[in-house]
Amino acid sequence: MNCSQMQSTLLDYATGRLSGADRVSAEHHLTLCQGCRERAEGFRAVAQVLEDWDTPQISPWFNARLRQRIAARIASEEALGWNWRRALGWLAQPVTAAAFAAVLIVGSLAVWTSRPATHPATPIATQPAIAQDQQKAQVDELLPVVEDFDMLANFEVIQDMKTASAAKPAKNKM
Ligand SMILES: [Zn+2]
Repeated sequence: MNCSQMQSTLLDYATGRLSGADRVSAEHHLTLCQGCRERAEGFRAVAQVLEDWDTPQISPWFNARLRQRIAARIASEEALGWNWRRALGWLAQPVTAAAFAAVLIVGSLAVWTSRPATHPATPIATQPAIAQDQQKAQVDELLPVVEDFDMLANFEVIQDMKTASAAKPAKNKM
């Protein structure tokens, strides 16, 4: 056995879990190697301390008192009128969550479609030539965000409903 093999078996050796040929081999190495011998002594001392250590016994009333304190805490939070658990539980119901999501989507669509139908890039043509580059850079920066909104506003079903009710030929959108 060499030092690195000894390292991997040192814990087993120090806690008496090494047996047979492995134990003999380890003990032989320890007679030859002072470094491993000192390390093994350290391990053995720690193992001894842990073995002798009496863990304090938990009071038989610990669980009952813990439950009591948790119940008291929950009661005091409910007395405040706002309960995150209840709110999250309400949101976690599939029907409520779907309705909530629908309200959010319809709300954002309403806000977006109520805006004037001008494309954000259109005003550039009316700007003085000097400011155009700066304007274009700003627009390029904002474009991905605007495209996200566009995607929502062009939500297929709503577009179809609009064009059908207006009885106009559908605009070809990419
Ligand atoms: Zn060694």
